[in-house]
Amino acid sequence: MLDLLADTVRDHPDDVALTYFDGRLTFAELDELSDGLACHLVERGVAGGDRVAVYLQNVPQFAIAVLAGWKAGAIVVPLNPMYRLHELTKILGDARPTAVISSEQGWHDVVGAVATALEIGIAVTTSELDLQTRDDQRLFAKSRRNPAEGCADLLAVARSYAGKRPPAVSSSASDIALLVYTSGTSGVPKGATNTHGNVVFNAEGTALRLDEDTPGGIFALAPLFHITGLVVQFAAALAAGRQLDLAYRFEPGVVLDALAEHEPAFMVGPSTAYMALMNHPEVSPEHFASLKMVHSGGAPLPSAVVEAFRARFGLYIRNGYGLTETTATATSVPLGKEAPVDAASGTLAVGVPTYNTVLRVVDEEGSDLAVGEVGEIVVEGPMVVPAYWNKPEETAASIRDGRLHTGDVGFMDEHGWFYVVDRKKDMINASGFKVWPREVEDVLYGHPAVREAAVVGVPDAYRGETVKAFISLAHGSTATGEELVEHCKQQLAAYKYPRSVEIIDELPKTATGKILRRQLRDTARAGEQHG
Ligand code: AMP
Repeated sequence: MLDLLADTVRDHPDDVALTYFDGRLTFAELDELSDGLACHLVERGVAGGDRVAVYLQNVPQFAIAVLAGWKAGAIVVPLNPMYRLHELTKILGDARPTAVISSEQGWHDVVGAVATALEIGIAVTTSELDLQTRDDQRLFAKSRRNPAEGCADLLAVARSYAGKRPPAVSSSASDIALLVYTSGTSGVPKGATNTHGNVVFNAEGTALRLDEDTPGGIFALAPLFHITGLVVQFAAALAAGRQLDLAYRFEPGVVLDALAEHEPAFMVGPSTAYMALMNHPEVSPEHFASLKMVHSGGAPLPSAVVEAFRARFGLYIRNGYGLTETTATATSVPLGKEAPVDAASGTLAVGVPTYNTVLRVVDEEGSDLAVGEVGEIVVEGPMVVPAYWNKPEETAASIRDGRLHTGDVGFMDEHGWFYVVDRKKDMINASGFKVWPREVEDVLYGHPAVREAAVVGVPDAYRGETVKAFISLAHGSTATGEELVEHCKQQLAAYKYPRSVEIIDELPKTATGKILRRQLRDTARAGEQHG
């Protein structure tokens, strides 16, 4: 990735690389600031192959931190800034970063405690004050406390090295660029080792697609900690020398204002983001007037949303499918074409495999299925990660001979279009945010009143799916659903806590005592449909 950056800085030094609230950075400035921060990281002991974790919203410091990490020869670990104690302890405990870069607020709320407990030696915090919307500034000001001793402001640190460059690092395409934590197909959080080669392949793929007929900037609708945000937005913008517009975090009104102000040509995000924008009371076609191409990925895209968006704004949303393990994109809708809808199920196709990529549909034994037959989707291509971080068993279970067994269930039609219709895995997809029942159950089991817990996904008009928990209480306990929800809220990112809790005497089980989560899921879904 650093070669791509160097080319872009050489060719377009004074072009705008990033815009945010009321500021902007050119490619040369981004390069210089990331040089400065890299010097600091190296001086404080970050060495080649070390991990540098980044816990930030969509702010320019995120981009500076990622580039600085790479320039210091490190592997960057992006973290969802919604993560709380439970998630951060697990992820940082596994990634073992040398340095962690966080907002001041994030540091005080949660990162600081985890970093101290894990003895992470280097912390760089940053005040996001000058980089947020006015509303965010108000919120931030209310809760602000002093930064911990030894933490410094990222921008001030970077600027203090003005004109200096970090020692050159040698890197190859097979070096790991990112460690992106995902629960993959089995539900255990693990780091996908996206290599520089993986990232460059998909970033250049997006850049080439834009070069065909889409001049203009990229709007960062997806969060930068997610693989789509990092690769299809950030790395693609670097590869294409395009401006990337940041809006701190997804807030429909703020996003609409930013679209009108920056007039980007391209954006990508989950289907629920398009639904939220479309349903905002102030939305008008002018907000989308500059856009030439809009992509959706990370969650099912209903064809009704595509049609409604087209009818109101004259824009066709192109579906795309991929996973963290495929460095975002594995399928797309070719330019000049539209994805068909399967007549039997009403499912919109996710596209066809991208360049140099093969998708197969296989049965339980791994044998190829015929056209129209439903089975597990397997992906093979230059963007598939080689392994999970330090998890040989998990790797062997889903990544074999460069083929990723996705845990998604689907089929291919006679024209080569792929459709995703179900999941083998228990994952719940809430607005593109992935929730693993097991993680929420683990937290529920930590409550003294809980004897047994099973968490399932139920349909939700806005989020696609949402989290529901079935609980049986320990004898003599009287805990309420609200108490259990509150318990989860304290420990988990906001999109993960159960939106409803049903307390029942006994959870259904197999003869061997395994809780029948699927049965509960089906009962809950049937109840939602009839209720
Ligand atoms: P993540 O690792 O967060 O990118 O999540 C990947 C998962 O999102 C996949 O395994 C699918 O279950 C789901 N997904 C991604 N794109 C689509 C799509 N276009 N339609 C349906 N599900 C999708």
